[in-house]
Amino acid sequence: MVPNITFVFVSNRMDGTVKSLYFLLFSFALIILPFFILYRHVKIVTVCYSVFIFLIPLVIFYTVVFSIPVTPNMIATIADTNHHETIEFFSGWHVIITISMLSSLAVCIFLVRQPVPHIKKATAKRVIIACLILCAPAFVLRMPHKGKKLPLSEIITHRLGCVYPFGLIKAMLAYTAEEIRYQHMCRKSESFSFHATRPIVPGEEAYVLVIGESARYCNWGINGYFRNTTPHLGLIKNLLSFTNVSTGAIITDPSVPMIVTRGTPKNMTRCYSEKGIISAFAECGFVTFWISSQARKGLHDLAITRYAKEAKTTVFINPINDYSDFCKIRYDEELIPVLKRAIHSKAKKLFIVIHTMGSHARYSMRYPKRFDLFRPSGKGKKMDIRDPKNRKQLINSYDNSILYTDFVLSKVIEELKSSGRMSVFMYLSDHGENLFDDGKDLSLHWNVTPYTLHVPLFIWASDLYIQTHPDKWKNLKKNINMPACSAVNVFPTLLNLADITCHGCETQKRSLASSAFIPEKRYYISMDDKVKELAYQW
Ligand SMILES: [Zn+2]
Repeated sequence: MVPNITFVFVSNRMDGTVKSLYFLLFSFALIILPFFILYRHVKIVTVCYSVFIFLIPLVIFYTVVFSIPVTPNMIATIADTNHHETIEFFSGWHVIITISMLSSLAVCIFLVRQPVPHIKKATAKRVIIACLILCAPAFVLRMPHKGKKLPLSEIITHRLGCVYPFGLIKAMLAYTAEEIRYQHMCRKSESFSFHATRPIVPGEEAYVLVIGESARYCNWGINGYFRNTTPHLGLIKNLLSFTNVSTGAIITDPSVPMIVTRGTPKNMTRCYSEKGIISAFAECGFVTFWISSQARKGLHDLAITRYAKEAKTTVFINPINDYSDFCKIRYDEELIPVLKRAIHSKAKKLFIVIHTMGSHARYSMRYPKRFDLFRPSGKGKKMDIRDPKNRKQLINSYDNSILYTDFVLSKVIEELKSSGRMSVFMYLSDHGENLFDDGKDLSLHWNVTPYTLHVPLFIWASDLYIQTHPDKWKNLKKNINMPACSAVNVFPTLLNLADITCHGCETQKRSLASSAFIPEKRYYISMDDKVKELAYQW
C-alpha cells in the first residue's frame, strides 16, 4: 500500500479527501483480493507480491519525482543496461535507493519464510464479495474522455494502472510490446551505411543540433516579435537567424525523423529504410550523443528513439511527455550538465543532438517560476488550452517558454564557447504552434497555418570555425533569407558544415552553407498523411 499512499500525497489529482480515501480503500481491496481468490495458495501469492515489495523504493522515488504512477519509460530506463543513464535518471539518489532496496529485500525474505495462514472458504467468499462491492463504483462510474464515455475495458485497465503493483504489471506489458515494435523498426535499416567520408581535420571539434518543440518563428524577439523574448540570443555574436524555413510536417513525428534522416515529405521511406544523421557522423569517427528531455518510449516517441539509439550515449531525463496539469517533468536546462560532461569529455570529435521539450503545451509547465515574466500566464493553475477565453494567458505562457528556451540555447552556446573546441550549433523547431491567431479559434498544432509551418532556425559558429571555413560562413549569410525546409535542408547543411560527404547526401545543392545551394519547391505532410505543396508566404 505504501506506493499508493505516496501517490495520494504527492499528486493533487485526487482533488479532495473523499476521492483520496476511496482510492486508498479501492487499492487495498484490489491488493488483498488475490489472497482470498487463491485462498488455498496463499504462499504463491506472497512470493509473487514479494517481487513487488522489493521494488517499492524505486517506485516511491519515481512517484515522488514525477507525481505519476509507473510508466513503460521507467521500465525502459531500468531495463536498458546503460549504467550511466540509470544513475542519471536517479540523479544522486542511487545510494539511498540501493540501501532501501536491500532493506526491502530483507522484508521480502522475512515474509516468504512466515507460516501460511489458513483461510476458510466461507471467509474467502465474504471478503471477495465485500471487495467487489467496494471496487464496483470505480468501474461503473465511467469518466468522460473528450466528451465521450470510455468503454468498460479501458476504464478497468486505467483504474488498475493507477494502483500498485497492478500499474507496474501494466507498464511492463506495455514496455514489452513497444520493445518488440522498436526491434522490428531497427532490423529494417540494420545493414545500412552512408559510406560517409571527411578529410582529416586536426584539433577538437563539436557539432551540436538542438531540436526545439512547438516554437513558431514569429514569437522570437530576434525575429522581430514585439516582445523581447530573446534577451540572451540577441547579444550573441556569430548567430544567424534564417528567416524563411518551413517544417516538413506540423507534428513531431514525422517532422523530427525527417530532420535527422534523408527522408523528405516526397520520400518518407528513407526515414525507415536508412539510418539517421548520428550514424553519418559516427562513420566519420565522431563520438555521438543524443540528449533528450522528451520521452523515450510511447506512441509518438518510439519512432524518434530509434535514431537516438544510434548514438554512442543516449540520455533521457524525463519518463513522459506530459500533457496534463499535474505531472512534474524536468526542465530543459537540466540537459545542460549532461551536455557539459559530453563537451568536456576526452573525445576529440563530437556530434551531439539535443531534443528539448521547448514550448510543448502546456506552456506554463515548460519553464521555472523565475521565467514567468509575461503575466497573467496561468502558471500553476488548471487551464483549458483549447479554450479561446484563455488566449491571453496562453500567449503569455507561450512567450515565457520562448524566453526560457532563449536562456537554455544561450547556455548551450556558452558551453561550446568555453570549451575552446571548433564548434557549430544549429537550433530549429520541429514545427510551430497556433495561438488563436487572426481571430480564429485554432490552438496547438493540428491545423496547417503559417504559424505551424514557419519555424525558427539559428546557426552559430565559434570564431575558430569561421576563421577555418570563411566560405561556408559567407554562404550561410548569403542564404539567410532563402526558402528552405527543415526536412530537406538540415541534414545536408550539417554534413556540409562538418565537411562530410556521402553518396546521395546532396551536401552541395541542399546545404545552406554551400555556394551551390538551390532552393526547391517546398512540401509538407498534412494531418491526413498527404504530401502538399507549401502555399504560404510569410
Ligand atoms: Zn513537436
